[in-house]
Amino acid sequence: MVGLLAQIIMNEYEIVIIGGGPAGLSAALYTSRAQKKTLILNKSEEGAIKKVEVLDNYLGFPDGISGKEFLELAKRHIRNFGAEIVEEEALFIKQDFEGSGYIVETAENSYKAKGLVIATGVKHDRPRIGNIGKFEGLGVSYCVTCDGFFFRDSKVAVLGFKDYGAKEAVELLNYTKNIVLLTNGRTIEIRDRLRQKLEENDITIIEDKIEEILGDKAVNGVKFENGKTIELKGIFIAVGTSGATDFARTLGIQIEGNAIKVDSSNSTGIPLVYSAGDCTGGNKQVAIAVGEGANAAINLISELKGTKYVDYH
Ligand SMILES: Cc1cc2nc3c(=O)[nH]c(=O)nc-3n(C[C@H](O)[C@H](O)[C@H](O)COP(=O)(O)OP(=O)(O)OC[C@H]3O[C@@H](n4cnc5c(N)ncnc54)[C@H](O)[C@@H]3O)c2cc1C
Repeated sequence: MVGLLAQIIMNEYEIVIIGGGPAGLSAALYTSRAQKKTLILNKSEEGAIKKVEVLDNYLGFPDGISGKEFLELAKRHIRNFGAEIVEEEALFIKQDFEGSGYIVETAENSYKAKGLVIATGVKHDRPRIGNIGKFEGLGVSYCVTCDGFFFRDSKVAVLGFKDYGAKEAVELLNYTKNIVLLTNGRTIEIRDRLRQKLEENDITIIEDKIEEILGDKAVNGVKFENGKTIELKGIFIAVGTSGATDFARTLGIQIEGNAIKVDSSNSTGIPLVYSAGDCTGGNKQVAIAVGEGANAAINLISELKGTKYVDYH
């Protein structure tokens, strides 16, 4: 049994790429051409590339192209080589202690992979609660896997309103049974399977808007705009989509600012885990994301093969 949301059927791939923007699709082109069984997990409705009205500075498109058209062409290109794309959000990554490699969980499925490329772009949805910064590391955490242990048997909250928030609340059950899910005024948007899991475990959902976090030296509760308060020892932030830095924290990858730290081979320093594109920081450009995706894939393939890989003859 693997994790609280484990499925009986485990889908196995050599490489799972998280994020189907320019970086992830570029990585997939190389891994699928190298005949590595490749899956791309992509949360379909987000991503910087979809916001690009006219991509005017990508070599080879003299008349410009919209981000959406560019994506469609890129998807067609990688499908030619057998890569699969599934429109599911990766919610959680962990090491596969029973085998080797990694397990990526979505709300619907679990996927096993020998190697990973994290290419989720940049996440912008941070909670807007005035005094939240004051409590980071003092009861406010961004990682259940890293910090859940410190809140054993305590009353804690997860701040989130989508599948990712619900999934983090379910993961917290490993440490405490006293959990609430706070949406901070947002309407809850979670799948039935996760909602059922919350209900089965008495995790209540509070949709009231938060005014401030209460506490002197550390968190001891929250105050809502309607004047109500609740006592809490910890608050785990899991707003919106799970992003690169959330995965990085879980896997023990170094983070710099809001970016995943990679070396010149786009390796994260964790065996067979690479990262590419906007989520690694630096200049946020399609050409750079595509280049980093290729670099990550070539070096991941080399690490898998144990010998230098060249993608042409
Ligand atoms: C308005 C705007 C205009 C721009 N104009 C230009 C331009 O003219 N030229 C240029 O070169 N660059 C431009 N950029 C920048 C460019 O779009 C980015 O640098 C590029 O898209 C980065 O690619 P990426 O693959 O790293 O990330 P993204 O394009 O952000 O793609 C990441 C993908 O990962 C998915 N994802 C995220 N989290 C998960 C998860 N947990 N599970 C599964 N999937 C997930 C997202 O939904 C998304 O599809 C612009 C950006 C914006 C916002």
